[in-house]
Amino acid sequence: MQAALISRARLENDMRLALANEQWKLVYQPQVDVNGMPIGVEALLRWQHPERGIISPGEFIPLLESTRLINEVGNWVLETACQQLAEWQEKPQTAGLSMAVNISPVQFREDNFVPKVKAILRRTGAPADKLKLEVTETLFVDVSDNALRKMSHLRHQGVRFSLDDFGTGYSSLSYLAHLPLDQLKIDQSFVREVLDSRANASIVESTIVLAKSLGLSVIAEGVETETQRGWLKDHGCLHYQGYLFGRPMSAAELEKLM
Ligand code: C2E
Ligand code: MG
Ligand code: MG
Repeated sequence: MQAALISRARLENDMRLALANEQWKLVYQPQVDVNGMPIGVEALLRWQHPERGIISPGEFIPLLESTRLINEVGNWVLETACQQLAEWQEKPQTAGLSMAVNISPVQFREDNFVPKVKAILRRTGAPADKLKLEVTETLFVDVSDNALRKMSHLRHQGVRFSLDDFGTGYSSLSYLAHLPLDQLKIDQSFVREVLDSRANASIVESTIVLAKSLGLSVIAEGVETETQRGWLKDHGCLHYQGYLFGRPMSAAELEKLM
């Protein structure tokens, strides 16, 4: 127990220094259409730790959230992703790409989240309608906060919203219908077993139908095999993200891919 505590304290301390030492990195994973053409990317955060090498978000996001450092780091993520998006607008091969950015509920609930996003868009010159914020169902568990108002405000600026990890949370379907969303993102846990588990297949099928009836687009994440893609396509899901199409990669690698 003590060893775990010490290791956590050390990680937390390192994390406080990571921003100043430029140890945060963004990688980009392609999102493709039914023809396999990249139409956008998702920005994913990596921590280049001086001793431990690359650390994945599963390990540090909870710690960032519990220490509220997520606000500072999340800001850096948004700014860096928007800078990249603006830069890609200038190059013909990348000009069509949209940029999805994960937003932690902690960050979204900050009082000045909306002005911050607007300021970043202004500063970087990134087109608002190519920015897609990925939020999760946990954001809407507490209905009393003004998440809905904030979403609507940003949406009026052109920013789009995707509901990440859909199906893993506890949001009510009736509430979902009132959210100003643009896209449902089917969680990779369902995609992984779509061919082996009748139950998971039903969930994915229903999600696709639900998205369509709510007028939302739908994207499947964690697509790893051609058979999964075929199944998804046959059931009406035409956008995909996963290792089958590309791993998260550097901006330079993505440009080469394009
Ligand atoms: P997510 O947003 O659901 O991201 C998808 C995760 O699935 C990514 O893991 C990605 O690398 C992985 N993935 C993509 N394709 C495949 C595939 O075909 N098979 C498998 N097995 N995995 C695949 P990653 O990069 O480790 O990120 C994990 C989670 O950390 C993300 O889940 C997101 O919730 C969070 N995260 C990442 N970057 C940020 C960030 O900048 N801000 C915040 N707040 N959260 C972030
Ligand atoms: Mg995501
Ligand atoms: Mg996800």
